[in-house]
Amino acid sequence: MSKTQDYIERAENVILHTYNRYPIVLEKGEGVYLEDAEGKKYLDFAAGIAVFALGYGNKKYNEALKAQMDQIIHTSNLYYNIPAVEAGEKLLKACGMSRVFFTNSGTEAIEGAIKAARKYAYNKDGSTDHEIIAMNHSFHGRSMGALSVTGNPHYQEAFKPLMGGVKFADFNDLESVKRQVSEKTCAILLETVQGEGGIYPADPTFLAGVKQICEERDILLILDEIQCGMGRTGEMFAWQGYAVEPDIMTCAKALGCGIPVGAFVLNEKTAKASLVPGDHGTTYGGNPLACAAVSKVFDLFEEEKVIEHVRKITPYFEKKLDELVGTYKFLTARRGKGLMQGLVVEGRPVGEIITKALENGLIVISAGSNVLRFVPPLIITEEQIDEMIEKLKKSF
Ligand SMILES: *Cc1c(COP(=O)(O)O)cnc(C)c1O
Repeated sequence: MSKTQDYIERAENVILHTYNRYPIVLEKGEGVYLEDAEGKKYLDFAAGIAVFALGYGNKKYNEALKAQMDQIIHTSNLYYNIPAVEAGEKLLKACGMSRVFFTNSGTEAIEGAIKAARKYAYNKDGSTDHEIIAMNHSFHGRSMGALSVTGNPHYQEAFKPLMGGVKFADFNDLESVKRQVSEKTCAILLETVQGEGGIYPADPTFLAGVKQICEERDILLILDEIQCGMGRTGEMFAWQGYAVEPDIMTCAKALGCGIPVGAFVLNEKTAKASLVPGDHGTTYGGNPLACAAVSKVFDLFEEEKVIEHVRKITPYFEKKLDELVGTYKFLTARRGKGLMQGLVVEGRPVGEIITKALENGLIVISAGSNVLRFVPPLIITEEQIDEMIEKLKKSF
């Protein structure tokens, strides 16, 4: 039996089967390449689902984590710790917001954002029936709160009753948002670029319109930047390309570049009038190891000019993808921003293309029901884009 077969069999005997996994065991990574247990190499255009922005095995990142391990890994939130202060300062500087709460995942960042929004509204009028407007085809996580604002009935059905007070509107349809707004609305929640739903960037007029509704009625705008944030679209946070500021922002995925960490970030108005001691907590959240990762990620983004690189490489990437759309009939459109791109596939199962690509040593993933999703490490080069295109063509 191969090492791969052995581990897959053992995995299925211990790990709850909640994922239909591709039959490879990934063992190591270097730059933008991964290697499986058989020594086969893959060019990685998924980055662990938009996580490994800096590529695998970045020496400076690894050294920073090792140094922090030797110093201290965990302290609890009953005390202050140094990496959390540094990571918080760098994150706030990057977004110009006021206060951060570190979490262990994106889902928990969403939970915190929901609680902050509800508390803000509660402080204003003392009522306990506030509503949140979320978007159809959104994705915000799988815990009961995050699932309740995830606009995908298929994910929700078996787990009802969900959290109440959630209404859904159509993304990029301002009228449908307006129809859901009421005296009870405390927040409007959306991804600046919808990821799992199929790579849909917000229209500038839509986002500006939502912001205007929020300002007129003192409703909080929550932007989920978990997937589209951290430089992926060519801005540190995607909303910075729209000149629309959120009241609350959620981050995760590339925030720690592989260490499980997320955050929800509040602007001054929200920070001043929402969560107070006793309202929210976490044992691990903001621990020294996770925050050392966040802190180093921000340093490396600056040192290695990651965002400038994303801006420079994007036109080439878009051109290459557009050429594919021009060449293959079953590719009907390209959508996306920066290094968060999707190709719409009609009349052919996306899963088949992904499986073929794996055989050809290329990792790509899907989004929605018919979109090939590209969220590579942000350090990708033109040569590697060419290599990806060749492997993809072979897989078609
Ligand atoms: C991945 C994702 C989440 C959930 O984050 P986890 O770290 O998996 O809990 C939430 N929102 C968006 C937009 C995501 O892409």
